[in-house]
Amino acid sequence: MRGFVYRIYPNKKQEVGLNIMFQAKRFVWNHFLEINMGRFEEKLGILSYNKMSSLLTELKQLHKWLYKCEKSVLQNTLKDLSEAYTHFFEGSMKYSEKTIEHAKKTGKEFTFYNLEGHPKFKSYKNPYQSVQMSLTNNNIEVIEKEATYTPSGKYKKQNCKIKLPKIKNVKIAYSRQYEGRILSAAVSRESDGKFYISLCCADIPEKAVELTHVKVGIDLGIKVFATISDGKAIPNPKYYEVNQKKLVKLQKQLSHCKKGSNNRNKARLKLNKCHKKIYNSRLDFLHKTTTDLIRAYDIICIENLKPKEMQKEKYLAKSISDASFSEFKTLLTYKMEHPKKQLVVIDQYYPSSQKYRPNCCNCDYQNKMLKDLKIRTWTCPSCGVEHDRDINASKNILREGLKQIS
Ligand SMILES: [Zn+2]
Repeated sequence: MRGFVYRIYPNKKQEVGLNIMFQAKRFVWNHFLEINMGRFEEKLGILSYNKMSSLLTELKQLHKWLYKCEKSVLQNTLKDLSEAYTHFFEGSMKYSEKTIEHAKKTGKEFTFYNLEGHPKFKSYKNPYQSVQMSLTNNNIEVIEKEATYTPSGKYKKQNCKIKLPKIKNVKIAYSRQYEGRILSAAVSRESDGKFYISLCCADIPEKAVELTHVKVGIDLGIKVFATISDGKAIPNPKYYEVNQKKLVKLQKQLSHCKKGSNNRNKARLKLNKCHKKIYNSRLDFLHKTTTDLIRAYDIICIENLKPKEMQKEKYLAKSISDASFSEFKTLLTYKMEHPKKQLVVIDQYYPSSQKYRPNCCNCDYQNKMLKDLKIRTWTCPSCGVEHDRDINASKNILREGLKQIS
């Protein structure tokens, strides 16, 4: 089971409806808690869920407003209360004779209610409120509208709604598709007044993946974004460089505008748009690249690059932020999350990443003469094999990665 959380935006009427449900939940919980506490004092034992459930029907007859609340919310409340008591009794060692004696000695009044783990009364003063609705007869359903593409690279479906019992269609920020089958939905109001829904889902299908049985190492770089040990290379698209002139121009325009002026606002808007455009195309590139990689390879070994450290080198800084290694790693990590795929991250300080003194991937000879990064190919003086600098590095990364998981 997994929960998928989304923000929801109930309108005024729906908010009133939800508040009634919060209130009904508190009312029912407190009502039965009080009954159970009385029974406990008289050593009558706690009411079972079934017993409480049948008493709830009578309670609703007395308090007709409870019908405004979705039925399953109140049933789930009774289940929760029943469970809370079970937990309390499971931890019953806590209220042994000793605890009671200790309480008497310290002069505190002893009550079961004050014991740790005892169910507590729910207060309307608590800014956090939540209810849980169970799915029956499609009473909970996401109503999807057109899909649009978004700055963070994910699908965003706009104008989506979620159908909920008693309060009908509520606007939902449907940022990603839930998976499997909905069992229940928990609606909560957080302390900041925002509403969220968590869809509890079961039977989440394992994503089908075709295995290729290919293992590779990937060397991430500045000129070439990724060099793969099988000889393939992914060039760096350099969106930043292409748009750099435009960015500089827009930045100048902004600095020339008077503070607080209309023109300044316009200039800032233009600059932001340009930044956003670069950001979007870069993320698009990273998404496509990582998807291609996980389709082609089963084991991928990469270096644990630390872009911040590398960015100390001024002349590399722009290209590196451009290449967005860390974003690449994040995307790859989450896309490789499959039982039959594996991402191996090796330590950055393995010799293969010492670009200035690479090891030969064939015989492990360390070439100390290769300090100049402009030299792209070299022949190993020890074994005579010819190397492309980046492919050699990616092969070393692969070897080290496989060593790590063997
Ligand atoms: Zn060699």
